Amino acid sequence: MRIPLLSLALTAALGLSNCSSAPLAAPADPALTVPATQPPAGMGLYAVQTGRMYSRAALAFEGGRFGDKRVFTAGGILIRHPKGTLLFDAGFGPSVEAHRMTSPWLLRVTTKYDRQATVADQLKAAGIAPSGLTAVVLTHAHWDHVSGLETLPGTPVWVTREELAFVRGEDASTALARQLGTGSYVAFDFPDGPYLGFARSRDVFGDGSVVLVPAPGHTPGSIVAFVATPDGKRYALVGDMAWQREGIELPAEKPWIARRVDADRTATRSMLIRLHQIKAAMPGLIIVPAHDARVWATLPKLAPADTGG
Ligand SMILES: [Zn+2]
Repeated sequence: MRIPLLSLALTAALGLSNCSSAPLAAPADPALTVPATQPPAGMGLYAVQTGRMYSRAALAFEGGRFGDKRVFTAGGILIRHPKGTLLFDAGFGPSVEAHRMTSPWLLRVTTKYDRQATVADQLKAAGIAPSGLTAVVLTHAHWDHVSGLETLPGTPVWVTREELAFVRGEDASTALARQLGTGSYVAFDFPDGPYLGFARSRDVFGDGSVVLVPAPGHTPGSIVAFVATPDGKRYALVGDMAWQREGIELPAEKPWIARRVDADRTATRSMLIRLHQIKAAMPGLIIVPAHDARVWATLPKLAPADTGG
């Protein structure tokens, strides 16, 4: 049963990749102004990769080729700031094999993966106590973003109200988030004003260095985090709005075969267009999809702790 269906799926994806699918229309937004930011000295952003999944461009974005192999990262993005330490998503935990069984069948059978050290182990190796994390902030609550929470007991997990309701509901895509328990979940709101075309925002540290905005679509409570670091770099952590950066650069939706992973296709499409417009207004902005290994390879990494003394 599996193999014919799988071939059918892959053949369909291959067929799609041969169509000349046009990118989404995304006219420039002249009203966008680039917000000021004052990231403090000592602040930093670090990629903490906990595993890899192996896929194809044809399965990642519309217009991608089947022969174009893509590595999907799984992990967390750590933000160290004098006022707190945040981890965006928790990557794979030790039980990833059991956890992935909660993912949609098609993704499971079309995706191979391997596992690296957990976020908690990598933090310890860098001399950072996992218990010192201010919070894990979920871009959204899908299994490959929450699996590593099992290694971070007691750490508050910040999610939007909409995402917490999604987790507490009955959707299959948040089964693992439910299983892991929502005792540590803390729902947050967006009390601050408009930001880059989004109506609401949350300036986490009050200096514009980490600003969260609601970006519903992939899930009802998905967010984007805009991060500025003292070296002048600016990042947009976009979660799974796009799996690979072409989703925003072109922009292009996920291929139809994978689009069912988006809770609201219309909302996802308008978010892709919005991020594309922001990137046009801020050409230096580094778009960080949660799963694009090419982007993650360029991000700073944690240095091992000095254990020589
Ligand atoms: Zn997702």
